[in-house]
Amino acid sequence: MTEVERVREQLNNLGLHTMSGIFEKEAEKAAKSQMSYTAFLGRLADEEVVNKTDRSVNAHITKAHFPAIKTLESFDFGFQPSLPATQVKELAELGFMAQAYNVLFIGPPGSGKSHLSVSLGIKACSQRKRVLFAPAASLLDQLVAAAVSHTLQKTLELIGRLDLLIIDELGYMPIDSQRGNLFFQVVSRRYEKGSIILNTNKSFDHWGEMFGDDVIASAILDRLLHYCHIIPTSGPSYRIKDKIAKLKKND
Ligand code: ADP
Ligand code: MG
Repeated sequence: MTEVERVREQLNNLGLHTMSGIFEKEAEKAAKSQMSYTAFLGRLADEEVVNKTDRSVNAHITKAHFPAIKTLESFDFGFQPSLPATQVKELAELGFMAQAYNVLFIGPPGSGKSHLSVSLGIKACSQRKRVLFAPAASLLDQLVAAAVSHTLQKTLELIGRLDLLIIDELGYMPIDSQRGNLFFQVVSRRYEKGSIILNTNKSFDHWGEMFGDDVIASAILDRLLHYCHIIPTSGPSYRIKDKIAKLKKND
């Protein structure tokens, strides 16, 4: 084994894959430019850090299970003039997470709830926060399955340890009493400990109906809203904006 092969292998053994890939070329360049040993090592270390950073952020994004990648930069605030844009942009600084505040996006379909919540989730991932994005129905189904297989406590602990839990599409499906109870457990687990972003089309006066139980609905709302930024997304649907524009043209 040559000296170069040995160094490459040892760097790989240490998990320094970027350094392993570039050190040979960089060493040649360093020799030509009479770079100091320290500067050479520094250059390799910088490249490793840059690559590790990206990989770790990407790993956080993958683990979060976003349905699509959306950013605040691609959100057209002009289309939704009633949305409190300044407040949303402030949320993107993630101060709310440090204080375990919740965020509630409330409004009709297509008004940007999922888009905005994914954007905030991606910002959190870029700060290496543990994020999970889950539609309410599948989150509750998973909890029911965990209860059946006697792993509910473990699952709730995992949910409790996330830095940010994003629950999407609450309100499209009726929620039975077992699921209502499980939802309450999720909310109380995270109360004052970690943020929840919740997207719903249902105004608060319909939550009793949605959970089929006024008592559980008000217990959930009580904890959820105690520390909470409420963002109404009451404008038109972006999904059908082109269709509406066409109809208006044909008027
Ligand atoms: P909701 O979750 O409120 O039903 P979404 O956030 O899923 O709505 O929005 C529907 C689609 O329209 C998505 O593809 C989203 O990226 C896009 N969208 C919604 N509002 C805007 C906006 N103001 N600017 C750019 N894209 C938007
Ligand atoms: Mg949505």
